[in-house]
Amino acid sequence: MIGLDFYWAFVLYLALWLVTIFVLWIRELRRLRQYDLKIGKSELCRCDKCKYNFLIENNFNIARCPRCNEMCILRKRRK
Ligand SMILES: [Zn+2]
Repeated sequence: MIGLDFYWAFVLYLALWLVTIFVLWIRELRRLRQYDLKIGKSELCRCDKCKYNFLIENNFNIARCPRCNEMCILRKRRK
């Protein structure tokens, strides 16, 4: 015979699901935070020639457009 009855089997099943969901939720939050940090370090640059938008590193003022290879100068916004 099985040592635990239906009630405790159900409670154990529910607890395992809650733990699984909690672990996945924490992992997702950590992944989103890393993604935000990556986005925060780069800035949006727009090519004047082909109007293509792309991200460049924050410490660079000049970049080449990935589509048409045109030189793009990032104008710093006044804050
Ligand atoms: Zn371009």
